[in-house]
Amino acid sequence: MNTENQNKPDRIQIRGGRVHNLKNINIDIPLNRIVGIAGVSGSGKSSLALGILYAEGSRRYLESLSTYTRRRMTQAEKAQVDEVLYVPAALALRQRPGVPGIRSTFGTGTELLNSLRLMYSRLASHRCPNGHYAPPSLNVAAGLPLVCPVCGEEFFAPGAEELAFNSQGACKKCDGTGIVRTVDESTLVPDESLSIDEGAVAPWQTLMWSLMKDIAREMGVRTDVPFRELTAKERDIVFHGPAVKKNIIYQNKTSGAAGDMDFTYFNATYTVENALSKVKDEKGMKRVEKFLRQDVCPDCGGTRLSDAARAPRLRGISLAEACTMTLSELTQWVAGVPASLPEEMRPMAESICASFQSAAKRLTDLGLSYLSLDRASGSGCSLPVRCVTAPPAFYMYWTSRPSACIRRIWKG
Ligand SMILES: [Zn+2]
Ligand SMILES: [Zn+2]
Repeated sequence: MNTENQNKPDRIQIRGGRVHNLKNINIDIPLNRIVGIAGVSGSGKSSLALGILYAEGSRRYLESLSTYTRRRMTQAEKAQVDEVLYVPAALALRQRPGVPGIRSTFGTGTELLNSLRLMYSRLASHRCPNGHYAPPSLNVAAGLPLVCPVCGEEFFAPGAEELAFNSQGACKKCDGTGIVRTVDESTLVPDESLSIDEGAVAPWQTLMWSLMKDIAREMGVRTDVPFRELTAKERDIVFHGPAVKKNIIYQNKTSGAAGDMDFTYFNATYTVENALSKVKDEKGMKRVEKFLRQDVCPDCGGTRLSDAARAPRLRGISLAEACTMTLSELTQWVAGVPASLPEEMRPMAESICASFQSAAKRLTDLGLSYLSLDRASGSGCSLPVRCVTAPPAFYMYWTSRPSACIRRIWKG
């Protein structure tokens, strides 16, 4: 046994437990063992398991989250006990309530990202409107403009809020999600041996009325031959044809009544785009998503941040780059921030970095140091499509697969 292990607690210690029918009990529970709690009915097995162990684990877990996240969660009551030592906080993960939104990441659930943004706003080298960089300056904290050393232009550094991807710093193209969804043309006609009349164009079968077939026919597309026999021009009308109005005579299949009306042509691609823009819930998304492909946003490269939010440089890197580091790498990097700045900025830097480090330590103690603040949804997630409506991998583990999550944390 090495020295490190000798100092590690090997048991949870409960002193003076008084929940429900527990009468001031003292008990030690071994860690890293499977422990059963036995006793006659009403002897307080659940009070011990839920009232003390679970409650205390929850409380510690919640303490590691940001105040904002905490406010939105049901608080576990503090266990009625004099002292509980060495309860692993991860015990509480099983019942983490609520599914965070699409813009939730490891970083947003904790204080880490707030501290990091403050660092970037106050301490970074900022970019002038003409693309030059000004050295770090106390002017930012004082609310004074910076003066570009190259072109002399005066400008204000972005505030922390302007660096947030779930706020003003969001990439416009992907709306701060880091991913863009486009129509996957290869899914629109899954079986080219069918004719359009037989339902070759899938979106026209499920997403729109079959009237589009009639309009396509009006536009010169043969709808009664296998799709693979269509000419390039016909295919182009199907996939990309213009939104022209056509007068269509239709007959109601049940009543037999006929009439004519003007209809606008929705080509197969636009049919999907239109349906996507009207999606309101997960059920609707299910119908559309099979026609979509998901790519990393070309503008922000999956970082979710606008160009302006990615501009400030601290220790030579952008906020987006800092967010790709694991928590343990980031902790080391932050430790070097104050020394990288001019003398007069160091006291302020020390204080901002200290608040980052204390939040980081709580999460490191939970075994989460292998996570990065903001993993782009395109990477490392086995269910890329579900990620659109479900949150990134980290939360998936926490919410839909709590047991996998716990296992992972224990190993970490
Ligand atoms: Zn300039
Ligand atoms: Zn983007």
